[in-house]
Amino acid sequence: METVTTATITATIEANLALVSTQIDTACTRAGRDAHPRLVAVSKRQTDERISAVLQAGHRVFGENRVQEAQQRWQNRRQTYDDLRLHLIGSLQTNKVAEAVALFDVIEVVDRPKLARALAVEMQKVGRHLECYIQVNTGEEPQKSGVMPDNLDALLAVCQDECGLNITGLMCIPPVEEEPAMHFALLHDMAERHALAEVSMGMSGDFEDAIAFGATSIRVGSAIFGARDSL
Ligand SMILES: *Cc1c(COP(=O)(O)O)cnc(C)c1O
Repeated sequence: METVTTATITATIEANLALVSTQIDTACTRAGRDAHPRLVAVSKRQTDERISAVLQAGHRVFGENRVQEAQQRWQNRRQTYDDLRLHLIGSLQTNKVAEAVALFDVIEVVDRPKLARALAVEMQKVGRHLECYIQVNTGEEPQKSGVMPDNLDALLAVCQDECGLNITGLMCIPPVEEEPAMHFALLHDMAERHALAEVSMGMSGDFEDAIAFGATSIRVGSAIFGARDSL
């Protein structure tokens, strides 16, 4: 029984990865792009079996939105897979900064001066100078994290000039009820204006659009792993 189940999961995950990869290729061709975006496999709230299957398929870049959950899932696997790249894609409290800096490779969610300063202090302390993206609240939704577009310049100045953070890109999560295209276009423009190379946008439902608008990194969960609530 057990082996049949595992084999089925492995086959499903391999098929999902192959399909996503084809969709990425097609979207790049359609957009006339040579450079393919990085595929961040979002493993939050997924089973160990599914994650093992993705690792087995050779994928090494993963995204998580909660520090504690990510620690439980990835701390041990770090020993086995020394080429893992872990992206933090969910909001970060300053009291979790030490754990985040110890575990992750890319922090995609810098969105306020207080967090930027806490990250800079911790990175200095432990000598890990991670790549960081600034999360922009392109939809200006009050309940959502991310810096408001009007405050991006000021936050970038704090991050770069005051804190010396290695800000390499921008990230956004468009409002669920809106067409993502204008948000993707806006984020890409802002990144270009600030000469930031990385643009993290696009999820399972809209990564092809994000690629058309210049995403360099896409965050895909359910299209790879299957639905999270089917756990
Ligand atoms: C969960 C999550 C994703 C992946 O969502 P899917 O729709 O499953 O692809 C991408 N980005 C962020 C920030 C997330 O929290």
